[in-house]
Amino acid sequence: MSEIVRRDGRKIDELRPITMKIGILDKADGSAYIEQGNTKVLVAVYGPREVHPRHLGLPETAIVRCRYHMAPFSTRERKSPMPTRREVELSKIIKEALANAIMLNLYPRTTIDIFVEVLQADGGTRCAGITAASLALADAGIPMVDLVTACAVGKWNGKIIVDLTGEEDEECEADMPVALMPNLEKVTLIQLNGRLTSDEFLEAFNLAVKACKLIGELQKATLRNYYEKIKEEVYEQ
Ligand code: ADP
Repeated sequence: MSEIVRRDGRKIDELRPITMKIGILDKADGSAYIEQGNTKVLVAVYGPREVHPRHLGLPETAIVRCRYHMAPFSTRERKSPMPTRREVELSKIIKEALANAIMLNLYPRTTIDIFVEVLQADGGTRCAGITAASLALADAGIPMVDLVTACAVGKWNGKIIVDLTGEEDEECEADMPVALMPNLEKVTLIQLNGRLTSDEFLEAFNLAVKACKLIGELQKATLRNYYEKIKEEVYEQ
């Protein structure tokens, strides 16, 4: 199955090249940047901090707020900076995909604010946003039961493929973003746009799990490298 090649030369089960960085913004409590192929996303996290307005705070738990936004320069045709219905929906589903992993009961009456800024969009921006946001939460020192990792799968040209580009997303018969806590093997997001048979669904889901686990390993390596570098700098002083 791995022999069929896509427009960008990838096999159907091959991810795009991925680069991740953390701790890149001084003013945020946590931050991360991801490049997945030509998709580029920056995430800033603030909190846990006092909720404003205060009546939004909950006595037993922290709340999570998320803003997913595509920069006006992130697409070929200038996108209006005003939030679209799609951005409102993606803000909600990204928040839900991440909130499941955060130990919210440790920080009652506070808020954790997540800003997902798409700098360049070429398919899979919600998934790249979730993967980077999970790293930014870890960078902010916010306790989680597991990292959250996301990747889209889909059906393109009759084949189940992983990590769709913008072009593949436009042409595909079905598109299915999945977010997973890779160590606990718990799904925190699954959406399906289009139609799949039950066999295709299972094939796509298994491919998404495999992809999320691979991306999870990259997340862990990114965190490890970052903290080892800090440790070396501290010992050098
Ligand atoms: P995702 O980015 O999570 O895959 P969609 O499936 O809604 O979300 O979008 C697929 C791709 O379509 C995006 O990654 C982007 O490349 C493109 N796209 C989405 N919205 C716009 C827009 N308003 N203008 C131009 N391109 C867009």
